[in-house]
Amino acid sequence: MAKLDSDFRNTLDTAFNHAVSHLENLDQTSVAATADLETLRARINKPLARAGIAPDQVIQELNADVAGGLLGSAGGRFFGWVIGGALPAAVGADWLTSVWQQNSALYACSPAAAVVEETVGVWLKEILGLPPKASFALVTGCQMAHVTCLAAARHALLQKRGWDVESQGMFGAPRIRILSSCECHGSFERAVRLLGFGQAQVKLLPVDDEGRLIPGALEDELRKDSTAPTLVLLQAGDINIGAYDSFETLIPIAHASGAWVHVDGAFGLWAGASPRLRHLVKGIEAADSWATDGHKWLNVPFDSGFAFVADRSAHRASLSIRAAYLTHAADARDQVDWNPEWSRRARGFPAYAALRQLGRDGVAELIERCCHHAHSLTTRIGALPGAEVLWEPTINQGLVRFLAQKSNPSFSGGLLPAEEANDRRTDEIIAAILKTGEAFFGGTTWRGRRAMRVSVTNWRTTEADVDRVVKAVASVLSVPPALAGRS
Ligand SMILES: *Cc1c(COP(=O)(O)O)cnc(C)c1O
Repeated sequence: MAKLDSDFRNTLDTAFNHAVSHLENLDQTSVAATADLETLRARINKPLARAGIAPDQVIQELNADVAGGLLGSAGGRFFGWVIGGALPAAVGADWLTSVWQQNSALYACSPAAAVVEETVGVWLKEILGLPPKASFALVTGCQMAHVTCLAAARHALLQKRGWDVESQGMFGAPRIRILSSCECHGSFERAVRLLGFGQAQVKLLPVDDEGRLIPGALEDELRKDSTAPTLVLLQAGDINIGAYDSFETLIPIAHASGAWVHVDGAFGLWAGASPRLRHLVKGIEAADSWATDGHKWLNVPFDSGFAFVADRSAHRASLSIRAAYLTHAADARDQVDWNPEWSRRARGFPAYAALRQLGRDGVAELIERCCHHAHSLTTRIGALPGAEVLWEPTINQGLVRFLAQKSNPSFSGGLLPAEEANDRRTDEIIAAILKTGEAFFGGTTWRGRRAMRVSVTNWRTTEADVDRVVKAVASVLSVPPALAGRS
């Protein structure tokens, strides 16, 4: 065998063995990192030698050096932020994507990659209940899906006022008013900044007890200037409690004043894939653009996000590019016309593989199963002595809080006011849970109080994982605070 081939074989063999052993050991290893910053820097931050080393040795050493610095986010006991796992078919396709080394900018660079993306776009619209005519782009994540959709929105809103934003830019352009609920995600604000709308144009409106934008508040705000070009952001699943704005009510209100409605459905858009949860996104197909992720609830490896735009021509006009050296195919779909990137990974392959592994029923079942586990984790942890449910999941997001009552044997509040003591206790318990290595949860401040977030998005989470995690939390809660709170 030629040396080149054996380099690949040895290196990929080594990577394969480490990969499989990582996956197989997830049940026995800590979900939280166990190596500290100093240790990781000491191992990883070596001087870059003048001479290179053998490729399989690179992989061996990389694997050894990162030990303890990886989270168990590929496994079933990880409930921090909103981080999905990765399905076997999707990981396999992702490996091949690297090996095939296709630049999926143009049909001409990789005909197969272009056709796979075309297919993924069609399947996603079907599964998520979006208009079949909508254009789409496979981007790196919901952040870039916002950027893609908002570029189209900016084009359409300003074109209506006779302003060509692609040529004239945003200096001197009519101001675009942006309205959203106060639960909007930071990635939306960043898209607003990047595209030159300016964060100061964003007006955050109040929500009801269920976290939904109040229709009257939107109506009042729109009425203040009925002719201003306006972008309305609606939420399909907010980050803390998975709240859904009422699309049926709000979209017609926004459209009545000519606004563009964009939906952040990073994970929540997937409710549309489940017959049991579809009611949450009722009316969503009337929006103008939608952003979601593949790397969260669809369990595609990073980086995978999807943008959809109802007005294809606005989408294309805002992104399409022509250069003398590019070869465009008349009938095929060139990704560069729809994507903000130029050279790009053929990220359609893993998304395609995930969808084929699951099928329509499998997607629905995955979504429903995660919601079921989130519900039982939240309510069972919330029922433990010294704990309380703050938000019982309607989808896959729950909130619990830990209480520092004096009657609790592990009281650690001292002389603090009750709410402050509970806040401190909640953070202490989260840290103590992470320290057990049995589960990973994140904290948040929700409606003024500290809370532990319970987010289930990984296909690997099982009933047994839930039992194991509840048991681990129970044992943390039963330990005196002097031990429970220390790290
Ligand atoms: C994660 C998330 C985003 C950002 O998505 P990325 O894939 O991280 O870019 C936006 N909105 C919501 C509600 C999210 O949960």
